[in-house]
Amino acid sequence: MSRRVMTVIGGGCSGAIVAAHLLRTRDGTVQLVEPRDRLGRGVAYDTDDAWHLLNSRAGNMSALADVPDDFVRWCAWRRLRGGPDDFLPRRAYGRYLEATLDHAAAAHPGRLRVVRQRAVRVAPDAVELADGTRLRTDWTALALGHAPTTDPLGAPAGSPGRIGDPWAPGALDAVRAEEPVVLLGTGLTAVDVALSLARRGHYGGVHAVSRHGLLPRAHTARPGDPAAAPRSGAPGPLALPTGGESLGKLLRMVREAMETAADWRPVIDALRPRLDALWRGLTQEEQARFLRHVARYWEIHRHRMAPVVGTAVERLLDSGELTVTAGQVARATASGVALTDGRTLPGRTVINCTGPGCAARTGDPLVRGLVADGLARFDRHGLGLDVDDDGMLLGHDGLPSGRIWTVGPLRRGRWWETTAVPEIRAQTAAL
Ligand SMILES: Cc1cc2nc3c(=O)[nH]c(=O)nc-3n(C[C@H](O)[C@H](O)[C@H](O)COP(=O)(O)OP(=O)(O)OC[C@H]3O[C@@H](n4cnc5c(N)ncnc54)[C@H](O)[C@@H]3O)c2cc1C
Repeated sequence: MSRRVMTVIGGGCSGAIVAAHLLRTRDGTVQLVEPRDRLGRGVAYDTDDAWHLLNSRAGNMSALADVPDDFVRWCAWRRLRGGPDDFLPRRAYGRYLEATLDHAAAAHPGRLRVVRQRAVRVAPDAVELADGTRLRTDWTALALGHAPTTDPLGAPAGSPGRIGDPWAPGALDAVRAEEPVVLLGTGLTAVDVALSLARRGHYGGVHAVSRHGLLPRAHTARPGDPAAAPRSGAPGPLALPTGGESLGKLLRMVREAMETAADWRPVIDALRPRLDALWRGLTQEEQARFLRHVARYWEIHRHRMAPVVGTAVERLLDSGELTVTAGQVARATASGVALTDGRTLPGRTVINCTGPGCAARTGDPLVRGLVADGLARFDRHGLGLDVDDDGMLLGHDGLPSGRIWTVGPLRRGRWWETTAVPEIRAQTAAL
């Protein structure tokens, strides 16, 4: 009888964790399909900039659900400075993910096959690669990451003066130190780009713009009390939503808890294990309202900057090198980016830092093919693909595909928070 073949498409963070897990816990061959040279890196960890730090403490970043301190132990073994409460460089984390996969492959020789290609089509029993090769498969996990970002000004890729993907190698090399730059977006990507420019000696001014004009908040140097302790003298214990509340009630409860707590951060962190129940407890309309009006506020509190990054950003703001504007971009002009209210942000170099796109708008032939073939459908908000409780794809008829699973950002519409390592490793263990 031939060996069971399990295929993982995408060898970034999620794909490396899934492949390592399959090697450790299952029999059969694991095919990992990834065009990038370096495994485990994906978009987030493929940076060589030592200043690009994790936005989570090292103690939360184990790739293995059954070995919670695995990353911290790996760091100690590699003699990297930093303990469980520290925010380490993302490049170290990428190396750790690759080492985790290498270690699993070495312990199970001959079972991992890495295919350095892009997959363009998936059927229940086969995966087609860009060069036309068909791989047989019994079971497939899609770990494709986020849908590519779209340019809010509608500029086609490669337009002069436009940097569509700030993570691409050498993307910032053409920016001259003295010229002003406009960043579309004010989230963690914009923060990384502003800091990278500053470290390259850029002094021409960086102007970041987004609808709300909100920067991510910063972590405290040490973790807060996970019990979300109330301020002394405040009536406690804090009441947090558990799921099934209306959006209005949920927001009221969270706001009250944040105002009553000694520090709001542990309140947000205490919500994390409940997020699935909270999200699913909302009606479809409430979820849509959350995405339109609340998501940005959630993101800046939930996805925080490392303290040292927060301090560096403060410095850039204080010096005037970085400005942050709330506004709606209208069009690029000869001298900068015009906003709908008539203001113009100076800078002929425009960098797209708007973050992930929506699956429903993706041009990826693999995703579009799955939907066209009836093997998948977009979730109700178009953020990712529709899946069941286990992450298995639901076909156009709403029935499970039986053989194709998803891990990570593609599950966004069903789970909402599904992109960080703690969620990815939990999904992998459950898979
Ligand atoms: C800048 C940044 C910093 C982050 N920091 C943290 C942090 O500190 N802590 C935390 O918990 N989370 C963090 N995250 C979130 C998180 O870890 C990621 O979103 C995570 O990397 C998702 O992994 P992924 O493998 O699903 O996607 P990706 O890392 O994007 O990988 C997807 C991979 O799939 C490949 N691929 C795509 N399509 C195909 C195809 N058709 N065929 C073959 N291969 C394909 C791509 O080449 C890519 O390598 C961060 C995210 C970003 C962007």
